[in-house]
Amino acid sequence: MATLHDPPLAQRDPEIARLIAAEELRETVKLRLIPSENYVSRAVLEASGSVLTNKYSEGYAGKRYYEGQQIIDQVEELACARLKTLFGADHVNVQPYSGSPANLAVYLAFCQPGDPIMGLGLPAGGHLTHGWNVSITGKYFQSHAYGVRRDDHRIDFDQVRSLAREHKPKIMWCGTTAYPRIIEFDKFREIADEVGAILCADIAHISGLVAAGVHPSPIGIAKVVTSTTHKTLRGPRGGMILCDAEHAKAIDRAVFPGLQGGPHNHTTAGIAVAALEAQQPAFEAYARAVVDNAKVLGEALLAKGVSLVTGGTDNHLLLLDLTPKNIPGKVAAQALDRAGIVANYNSIPFDPRKPFDPSGLRIGTPAITSRGMGADEMRRLADWMDQVLCAPDDPATITRVAGEVEQLCRQFPPPGIPQR
Ligand SMILES: *Cc1c(COP(=O)(O)O)cnc(C)c1O
Repeated sequence: MATLHDPPLAQRDPEIARLIAAEELRETVKLRLIPSENYVSRAVLEASGSVLTNKYSEGYAGKRYYEGQQIIDQVEELACARLKTLFGADHVNVQPYSGSPANLAVYLAFCQPGDPIMGLGLPAGGHLTHGWNVSITGKYFQSHAYGVRRDDHRIDFDQVRSLAREHKPKIMWCGTTAYPRIIEFDKFREIADEVGAILCADIAHISGLVAAGVHPSPIGIAKVVTSTTHKTLRGPRGGMILCDAEHAKAIDRAVFPGLQGGPHNHTTAGIAVAALEAQQPAFEAYARAVVDNAKVLGEALLAKGVSLVTGGTDNHLLLLDLTPKNIPGKVAAQALDRAGIVANYNSIPFDPRKPFDPSGLRIGTPAITSRGMGADEMRRLADWMDQVLCAPDDPATITRVAGEVEQLCRQFPPPGIPQR
C-alpha cells in the first residue's frame, strides 16, 4: 500500500525550518530580559506540538458539540484539576486563546456596552485590555483609569477610591504589565465592595510567582482572576480564568459560546504539563530565584547610576528610568539588542517623552532564571548594561559585550532547545 508522502519539516519547508533553527540560536545566545517572556520545557513543547491540534471540541467536558471527545475531555479535565489545585480556586476555564481574550470574556460575562469600568492606565503600567482608549475595552465601555502617585509611583488608592465612588464601575481591574511592586489585592477589594464593583485581578505577568507563593494570591479576594499561561507560569501561549463557584457559569458561557469557538486542545495539553511542573518543589525555588535575581540586578544597576521606578522591585521586573543616563529608552533598547541583551523600551509614569520614544526600559528575570542564572550572572549583566548605556554608538563596545554575553549564555543552555 502506498503511504502518504509526509516528510519532516526540514524537507517539506526548509525556509520555515531554517527560521525556527535561527530563532533557537537567538534564544540560546542572547540574554532575554523581556519580562513577559520565558522558556517552556521540552515536555511543554512536545504537548503543544501534538496531534491534539487536530481535534475540534466546542463546549466543555461532557457537554461537547462534536463526537470523538474520549481523549480531549480527559486532557481538559486534567488541566483544570491541576490549575485548581495549584491556585486553590473553585473553578477554572482554560479555554481562552490568550490573556486578552480571557479579559474580553470577563467583560462579556458582567458588563453591557457603555457600562463604567476601572483599570490602571497604560502609562502607569496597566494593560491595554483594562480599558485603555485604543483597545476595544476603552471603546465599548466607559473607562476610568486610575494611576500611580507622583511622589513614589505606587498605585494611588486615594484616586482609586474617589473614581470608584464617582463612577460606580461594574468591574474593577487590578493587575499590571509594567509595575515592579506587590499588588495589594485586599485594598482593591475593600474599595470594590464599597461601590458594588466586581473585583477582577489580572495576574498575567505574576501567575508563576502567585502559584509558588512568592507573590500574594488574589484567590478568595478577587471574584475573578485572569492570567496568561506563558509568562512566569512557563506554559504555552494561552489564557485562563479562575473564579469562585458563584461566577463559574457566567464565565464559562462568556468564553464559549460568547466569545470563542473550539478550544486549542494542543495548548490545553501544554498548560496541563506546565501546571504539573509548577506543582514541583523546583518551581517554587525557580520563582524565588526570579525575584531574588531581580533584586540583585536592580541593586547592581542602582550602583551604576541607573534610576529605578519606585526605587526597586518586589517581583520579576524592573522599570529603569534612563533620564539620569541621558539616553532615550529606544536608543538604549536597540543598542542593548545589538549587544545580545534583549529588552523593551517603555514609558515611565508621568513620562515627559512620547510613548514611541520614552524614557524607560523594562527588564525582567523570568527567562534568564529559567536558564539557571543567579546573583553572579546578574552582576555581570548590570556591568554589561552599564557599558552599553554609556557607549551605545561605540561598535567596539557593542561587539565585545555581545561576545561576552554569548560566552555566558553557552554556559547556561535554556530548557526546551536542543543544543547543537
Ligand atoms: C500580557 C498581558 C495580557 C495579555 O496577554 P496576551 O496573551 O498578550 O493577549 C493581559 N493582561 C496583562 C496584565 C498582561 O501583562
